[in-house]
Amino acid sequence: MLGWYPRHRRDLPWRHTRDPYAIWLSEVILQQTRVKQGLPYYLDFISTYPTVHDLATAPEDEVLRHWQGLGYYSRARNMHHTARQVVQEYDGRFPGSYAGLLKLRGVGQYTAAAIASFAYDEPVAVLDGNVYRVLARVFGLTADIAAPASRKIFQQLADTLIPAGQPAEFNQAVMEFGALQCTPAKPDCLFCPLQSQCFAFQHGMVHELPVKSKAKATRTRHFHYLVLRHNDTVYMRKRTGKDIWQGLYDFALLETDSSEVAATAVVAHVEQMGGQLAPNRAEEPSATFRHVLSHQKLEARFHPLWLQAPLAAEHLAASGLQPFTLAEVENLPKPVLITNFFS
Ligand code: SF4
Repeated sequence: MLGWYPRHRRDLPWRHTRDPYAIWLSEVILQQTRVKQGLPYYLDFISTYPTVHDLATAPEDEVLRHWQGLGYYSRARNMHHTARQVVQEYDGRFPGSYAGLLKLRGVGQYTAAAIASFAYDEPVAVLDGNVYRVLARVFGLTADIAAPASRKIFQQLADTLIPAGQPAEFNQAVMEFGALQCTPAKPDCLFCPLQSQCFAFQHGMVHELPVKSKAKATRTRHFHYLVLRHNDTVYMRKRTGKDIWQGLYDFALLETDSSEVAATAVVAHVEQMGGQLAPNRAEEPSATFRHVLSHQKLEARFHPLWLQAPLAAEHLAASGLQPFTLAEVENLPKPVLITNFFS
């Protein structure tokens, strides 16, 4: 593995640093997306916020805007919170050990192991999907990698494999090997240096390993967005609560069981929010916009609605809507679905 790695590794910016902040940033982003998609986000974050202090002092809306498109916005908020925690509680320096790193919010075993081994050379194995797959295949481990109890089995094995003095190199090598050579659907077994030792290859089980139980079923949700406008003002609201996209801006929403909604229901909802529709300004709703999240499929239609008069302050407070100009909307952090509607 250590012989394979220098010949095949991709040249990635976070591999040239021992700065725990830069490593942490790259790991948080790479938990969201693949290397190719994550790279521009990493470069954007590290140039906008070169130190943990810069990130900690940035406004949340701005951080969410840079995160836009990566999904799971709670991770961006956790990341921002962690940066503040490092500045306030640790004087701007990341804890110097695996155990210390685990005390940071949003830093789990995976990220703590990555920072501790890459930045501090601590001999603790990193377990990501790639590593699970390589270990399961090479050693013939049949434990369900989706079951939390399996983690211990894989962690113990991986920790014992780390060669003395080379935890960073070893962890990077196994992760890269899983990403490039021992891939999920088409592993390159024919030209694999581990072929003769690989349990899965020797036993014809390459496509049965790793064992992973089925993920939660996805559900489809139907959103009807009421795009309320008056002259140059558009009304949007900041999402709160436990549902998706907390902290991002969208429109007043009617959620139903189907892609159709009665015009009377739309009017009633507008009136409930204190609005009166302008006569003779009816516009057709948009076509359906589709957006896929990890366990949800969203089907959204946008209903352009013109108000006769601006919404009064007490109605704004009750509905959570806020008036914006289109230029202001541009700078709000928004889910990709909403950005797609505006583009
Ligand atoms: S032989 Fe195939 S399954 Fe085994 S480690 Fe190599 S690429 Fe992976």
